[in-house]
Amino acid sequence: MVMNTTPKGALRGQTTYAGGSTLLATTQRQFERAAAVLGIDEAIVERLRHCDRQIIVSVPVKMDSGRWEHFVGYRVQHSNARGPYKGGLRFHPHVDLAEIEALAALMTWKCALLDVPFGGAKGGIQVDPSRLSEGELERLTREYVRRLLPNIGEYLDIPAPDVNTSEKEMAWFADEAGRTLMRPVPGIVTGKPLDSGGNVGRKEATGRGLGTVVLELLRRLGKDHLTAGIAIQGYGNVGRQTALFLAEQGCRIVAISDISGGIYQARGLDIDDIERHLRENPGSLLDSYHAPGIERIDNQRLLRLPVDVLIPAALENQITPEVAQTTEAKSIVEGANGPTTLDAQDLLVERGIVVVPDILANAGGVFGSYIEWLANTTGSEWSLERTREAIRTSMLRAFNNVWDRATEKNGNLDLRAAAYEIALERVVAAMNARYC
Ligand code: NAD
Repeated sequence: MVMNTTPKGALRGQTTYAGGSTLLATTQRQFERAAAVLGIDEAIVERLRHCDRQIIVSVPVKMDSGRWEHFVGYRVQHSNARGPYKGGLRFHPHVDLAEIEALAALMTWKCALLDVPFGGAKGGIQVDPSRLSEGELERLTREYVRRLLPNIGEYLDIPAPDVNTSEKEMAWFADEAGRTLMRPVPGIVTGKPLDSGGNVGRKEATGRGLGTVVLELLRRLGKDHLTAGIAIQGYGNVGRQTALFLAEQGCRIVAISDISGGIYQARGLDIDDIERHLRENPGSLLDSYHAPGIERIDNQRLLRLPVDVLIPAALENQITPEVAQTTEAKSIVEGANGPTTLDAQDLLVERGIVVVPDILANAGGVFGSYIEWLANTTGSEWSLERTREAIRTSMLRAFNNVWDRATEKNGNLDLRAAAYEIALERVVAAMNARYC
């Protein structure tokens, strides 16, 4: 079903950006390739090609100036074959329907691969949050919730943080939903602050899960993690938590970057010192950090550095065919969703560069969300240690499943193809069990 509640004209001013459709084409092709390898029935393939529901809402906000502005909000529910829809909520000027559609489908595959009982969804608002005041941002978030509510629920669809959203927006989300429904509904959203029903390990979950995968990959490749060089693009929730975890394990992080550019130091950056700087200067970017011996680099250079592991953890479509052809990275572990285009993926496989795909590498977040949701809906308690151990175990299990499937086949090590095949098998099994 397609539901479009957008009033006429609400899409005015939408920026044209090809990134969303490129991402959608990439994810569709990857899914279709896996379906062809597995010989999945065309009727099922056709059903999974489409999202169950696409919701577009107009979100009117009274700005501090007294003027009204209308923003466009999306929520796309791809499949609930294995459980309630689940997926993040991003605030970004480039958000469009194609991008959200692709990200929703990625969530279906990710949840299946991690074997958590959720389906896939994604949401977003086309907005540059950096130009909004705190009050405007809160009013925007709360109005989006009110417009979306009939289609969101603890056992229906559960959002979480994503690009430019954090526990602050999730707390507003849960509060507004509770007020409207006139009962507390902490399980309606994950990634909340601790005082609003959040879980101790959720914030770090994606980064720690990613770090766990990096360590396991290096072990499988026979490389000592204490000497391996690592570069991370994007220093937000995912990139930062990954850097913290890997630095804690003694890894050498030679480069990091954010929207303001990157910094490089061959002997390894002092992550603790960078953290101290960012803590003391809240809201500042990496271009404000200075230390002896660091070199300023741009994101293009970072993506081509001669490192053992490159971690794109910013936005989609960063690893283009040009990057794939020229990068000197030996392996890529995808922190972001959809950072590698389809043509680039093929080139990387041909060049023997091992890629751990997004649906595996960044799935620690959804597992952390699952724990938070379980705690909210069942009243169970999860300590930090238990949460960390559960995430580590599930990430290693998923990694080993994918690695074993990929190595069963002769030829190049294509972890993405293997991950999609496992995920698709599970979703199709659930569909068959339900509908046959
Ligand atoms: P975030 O908003 O917290 O951080 C994004 C980071 O990327 C920021 O440091 C930003 O400055 C940087 N950035 C933006 N544009 C850039 C560019 N052109 N070049 C370099 N850096 C740039 O977002 P996040 O939550 O860390 O999400 C990052 C990616 O990880 C997204 O693809 C998201 O979908 C994915 N992801 C997030 C989670 C999660 O738990 N937050 C879980 C799984 C996947």
